[in-house]
Amino acid sequence: MKFEFSNKVKRLPPYIFFEIEKILEEKRRAGKNIISLSIGDPDLPTPQFILDALKEESAKPENHGYSNSRGEREFREAAAAWMEERFGVTVNPETEVTALIGSKEGIAHLSRAFLNPGDKVLVPDPGYPAYLNGGVILNEATPVVMPLTKENAFLPEIDFIASSKAKIMFLNYPNNPTGAIIDKRFLKEVVEVAADNNIIVCYDNAYSEITYGGYKAPSILEVEGGMDVAVELHSFSKTFSMAGDRVGFAVGNKSLIEGIVKVKSQVDSGLPKYIQNTAIRALKSYANGEPPKEVKANIATYWERVKFLAEKLRTIGLECAVPKGTYYVWARCGGDSMQVAKKLLDVGVAVTPGIGFGEHGEGFLRFSATRPIEDIKEACERLAKIKNTCS
Ligand code: PLP
Repeated sequence: MKFEFSNKVKRLPPYIFFEIEKILEEKRRAGKNIISLSIGDPDLPTPQFILDALKEESAKPENHGYSNSRGEREFREAAAAWMEERFGVTVNPETEVTALIGSKEGIAHLSRAFLNPGDKVLVPDPGYPAYLNGGVILNEATPVVMPLTKENAFLPEIDFIASSKAKIMFLNYPNNPTGAIIDKRFLKEVVEVAADNNIIVCYDNAYSEITYGGYKAPSILEVEGGMDVAVELHSFSKTFSMAGDRVGFAVGNKSLIEGIVKVKSQVDSGLPKYIQNTAIRALKSYANGEPPKEVKANIATYWERVKFLAEKLRTIGLECAVPKGTYYVWARCGGDSMQVAKKLLDVGVAVTPGIGFGEHGEGFLRFSATRPIEDIKEACERLAKIKNTCS
């Protein structure tokens, strides 16, 4: 028997990453050696102290019962203490924090809690696809494409936000896929325009810790009035290489957190307590707002890779910047990015075509530096051979 999907599920666009992954798998099965710089899954090790904590916490019988949807009090207190130490932001762990199964869950639940069919939502383009798919389409809302152009340093235009009549705006810096960063002045403008126009800001800060060259990513909650309009999402996936452990948290405006928790409590029954207890130790490994040595070492490795990658891509003729945040290099390839990505697959390198992040991603490729430097070097050598196909 085959059953019909709901209309909203039918409206989900094809996931372009799967198309590339499918071709990649076929080529690998046919014996071709492919270096994948496509998916942004951290390859660097989870710090040993976290693995030890996980082992210890999962061995305790009392950690296998139900938690609650909002998360254990100790987890929320640790998240609040980290926000204070890292950003100087004070939040109430009782009402202004909730645990999440990663930042992605926050996007889905916030949208479900606050959107009615037809409500407008500002979606960054290019942008992480979960905003459009899990946020807008699955809630029958209406996307308003918010262009992030190179000419505007991959930031949205404030006037565009003001005239959008949107109920929710998604923002993410350090930015996937462009690697762009922001400063507090820009966040102040965002908070002001959101407050003036009654827009909820969902600030996805999943890459806040993956930054380089002395740049420290701010929290939108540092800005005066931020707590009035924003909810910020944090993730352990990138910072601590815990993508598969599924843990994060949302912090911010009390009513926005309440909405997320209302939906979450109907969908799951909380994160495993042993994951929360492990995550507490990860957060407590920070000292004076600085990450532990293991995380610093991983960031230094990403830095070495993105710097090498961007410089090499430029010599091949792909225009790009060395990012100050994230582990992505966003390179202009011109033309049909899917076709270019397929050509690169033919020489044994998988990348993500920019079109997968929205119409304004067309003409770009995203290279993810989540492979060892030796693989990145080899990938660049393979690309150099087809230099002229990417112009
Ligand atoms: N937000 C952005 C911008 C991402 O790029 C990703 C993962 O790639 C996520 C959220 C998902 O994070 P998590 O693993 O915490 O759900």
